[in-house]
Amino acid sequence: MSAQLIKGKQISDTIREEMRHEVEQLKAKGVIPGLVVILVGEDAASQVYVRNKAKACEDLGYYSEVVRLPADTTQTDLLALIEKYNQQTNIHGILVQLPLPKHIEEKPVIDAISVHKDVDGFHPISVGNLMIGDDALLPCTPSGVIELLKRTGNSPAGKHAVVIGRSNIVGKPVSMLLLRENATVTICHSRTPNLAEVARQADILVVAVGVAKLVKEEWVKPGAVVIDVGMNRLPDGKLCGDVDFDDVVGTAGWLTPVPGGVGPMTITMLMANTLQSAKRAHGIV
Ligand code: NAP
Repeated sequence: MSAQLIKGKQISDTIREEMRHEVEQLKAKGVIPGLVVILVGEDAASQVYVRNKAKACEDLGYYSEVVRLPADTTQTDLLALIEKYNQQTNIHGILVQLPLPKHIEEKPVIDAISVHKDVDGFHPISVGNLMIGDDALLPCTPSGVIELLKRTGNSPAGKHAVVIGRSNIVGKPVSMLLLRENATVTICHSRTPNLAEVARQADILVVAVGVAKLVKEEWVKPGAVVIDVGMNRLPDGKLCGDVDFDDVVGTAGWLTPVPGGVGPMTITMLMANTLQSAKRAHGIV
């Protein structure tokens, strides 16, 4: 038996269609969701991400600005720009593309973004609200993972979810979201002994490590749902996940491909956060 593929592109297209309808309704009320993406420096991968975000805005009819700053921009100037957009009422989401050049500290920059416009969900108040179960703008990749599970009928409730990776942008928040969805959650990392054995206990296995093809067939319980967040560039230029797809596809019950699994969801959830933020700014719940 071969795993059913979780087609992130298709699911993402469906969500965008649903959002398109909401955007029309909002526009009829005179509200246009607005997103600014700030890019410092010339990182090649970041340039692609920023272009894709601008394209998604255009596709959905959002107002969008892309600010490209030179690599030698000072932290003070970047903070001043963020403050300008914090005040600007036609902007509902502010995203500073990471990584930043080495001379700029990430934390003060993330902290400077108004929590109401924190569409990446990285601000400590957003993180805290997620942790205590209050309303928050959720980080995009983790909330995309939850959407993939729910929209394929794989509700996390009552399941044992094992998350490999404990980063602030994926591992920890996706673990909190799975807990909020009533899964029993085990979080693993580079110091976890017997990783394969722990992973094999998972009904839902989420892998966000950054090591190409780390997860093999013997790590997967037959029938498990396997979500591969990893995006690794192979020497031949191809993208591959943290899960050895060919090895695992015969054992897993459900599996995300890379590319075309989690990846397309991230930008869609960013668009959803911007829409939500615009609605809140105008008192529309
Ligand atoms: P990260 O910050 O480097 O964190 C990696 C995590 O994996 C750490 O917690 C680390 O453990 C753990 N780890 C590393 N090697 C391990 C091993 N051999 N066994 C077990 N755990 C190990 O990475 P990230 O930002 O979370 O990203 C993870 C992957 O997801 C990357 O491939 C990234 O490109 C991808 N990603 C994709 C999207 C998307 O939109 N699809 C978005 C974000 C990230 P320690 O904490 O102990 O060091």
